[in-house]
Amino acid sequence: MRTSNFLLATLKETPADAEVVSHRLMLRAGMVRQLASGIYSWLPCGLRVLKKVEAIVRQEMDKAGALELLLPGVQPAELWQESGRWKDYGPELLRLKDRHQRDFCLGPTHEEVITSIVKNEIRSYRQLPLNLYQIQTKFRDEVRPRFGIMRGREFIMKDAYSFDVSEQDSRHAYDKMYRAYERIFDRLGLDYSAVEADTGSIGGSFSHEFHVLADSGEDKIAFCKALNFAANVETIALPAPQHGRAAPAQSMEMVETPGVKTIEQLCKMLAVPASKTVKTLVVKGTQGLTAMVVRGDHELNAVKAEALDSVSSPIRFATSKEIKEIIGTETGSIGPVGMNIPIVIDHTVALMSDFVCGANQADRHFTGVNWDRDLPLAKVADLRQAEDGDLCPGGEKGETLTVRRGIEVGHVFQLGRKYSRAMNAFCTNDEGEKTLLFMGCYGIGVSRIVAAAIEQNHDERGIIWPESLAPYKVCIVAIGYHRSEKVRQASEALYQQLDDSGIEVLLDNRNERPGVLFSDMELIGIPHRITVGEKSLEKNEFEYYGRKTGETQTIAAPDLLAVLKSKFEI
Ligand code: ATP
Ligand code: MG
Repeated sequence: MRTSNFLLATLKETPADAEVVSHRLMLRAGMVRQLASGIYSWLPCGLRVLKKVEAIVRQEMDKAGALELLLPGVQPAELWQESGRWKDYGPELLRLKDRHQRDFCLGPTHEEVITSIVKNEIRSYRQLPLNLYQIQTKFRDEVRPRFGIMRGREFIMKDAYSFDVSEQDSRHAYDKMYRAYERIFDRLGLDYSAVEADTGSIGGSFSHEFHVLADSGEDKIAFCKALNFAANVETIALPAPQHGRAAPAQSMEMVETPGVKTIEQLCKMLAVPASKTVKTLVVKGTQGLTAMVVRGDHELNAVKAEALDSVSSPIRFATSKEIKEIIGTETGSIGPVGMNIPIVIDHTVALMSDFVCGANQADRHFTGVNWDRDLPLAKVADLRQAEDGDLCPGGEKGETLTVRRGIEVGHVFQLGRKYSRAMNAFCTNDEGEKTLLFMGCYGIGVSRIVAAAIEQNHDERGIIWPESLAPYKVCIVAIGYHRSEKVRQASEALYQQLDDSGIEVLLDNRNERPGVLFSDMELIGIPHRITVGEKSLEKNEFEYYGRKTGETQTIAAPDLLAVLKSKFEI
């Protein structure tokens, strides 16, 4: 490809509203453009990378014995009513009506569709095991689309579904997929970790997530090297602390806290550490609102909250309007003292004394608050997220957790018989009895991987693609292509030679300053660069530059192909 025929849509300016580096670089490198919130077009440069990810995923799925198919993006409501998820999936499911007023949705995932197919096609255990997959566009009306294609509303996923006659066979299918995922993420050149995970709204028995470790990750992963433990913090149950509660030393007082809306502001104004404060979050449920209280320096764990009967799943927070109407105050000043809705507090909160909390009056807080003396002890539960330094579950010698951030790029679940039971998907076993199928499902965020790879492979000048993902492997930068016949001929000949050798090559023949050509090729992250210029041509040489290593080398023209190939990773 020549840049003169390519849509090289690079941008000089850093887009102001892009929060993370991968989003900024994908826009600057001309890989994607936003069409609407969380909805992106893939431009040629981005699509080439996306196709590379797809190809690796497809090869490894095929190698693992999975069969590719393609399911529709639009799905009838009846299927979702059958599984119960028309109600349970919540507002992430984009629902629509056809001209006959029949309900449909845009598929956020395909358990229902695949189960309906398999239940009609599979009769006997002899047709199993079966693993079917597709690479396809999903739609989820995410509450907070952000970070570009990392959390889009429309995105591309590889989803696979396994069907087996027994739990043991299903476990075997799961292990096979787990190993295929390891090969995929190895080949993608990612620094990743597989961790134990929550099964969420999809239901099922157990699951692992694959995370790319990066500071911009939305998930928190806890590791304990000593115990070989890795899990999403959401899933880690925290036992009640063993120590008791200190006796009250202060009396309860109401203090003015004008303008205070956050724990950080509160701590600053009252000069107290966050661990002496509590935060109160109000969530919705079938019986109305519930107040959830965690320590100021802790985070509410939505998965744990959702497990309570009084809380809806997925979790829904009360709006400021509802809080004003029912509790009679602003969000920044809520607290458990005199609260008129049911309260649930975390274990650690139950052991606090002389703490600070909102006073349920605008711009006021209480200090020196003590359970039993100033308010009755509320219902106690494990509500908070595990933090760096917490004790590792199962550790006997006080081993602690280290928490890092991760981007979830893949997820493997054992579903058991949840969908086959709801949708009557049977087969006959080797004794001729009708038995419900065991299922597994396995997702990979194909489009998200592109962003995750950039998070791990970039510098201040742009993207540094691993060869397995690069839109082109080599670029030829022709200096003076438009004024020097010699340069034009030499760069065209070299281009032809590389192209004939099956190397993906981009010839930059734009009539621009050399600095512009160099910086654009660095921005889009082409791993190997050959510069063709008049001076070096006189000596029958080319200049080589490696994007990742920063290595430069003068190569004699006859040796070019051999030397270049010796630098390739793959
Ligand atoms: P998350 O916790 O990030 O919302 P999820 O648990 O909803 O993910 P799954 O239903 O397991 O995700 O989907 C499979 C894969 O699809 C995820 O591992 C992730 O890589 C990708 N994915 C999920 N939601 C999005 C999204 N909104 N944008 C891009 N990729 C996504
Ligand atoms: Mg999600």
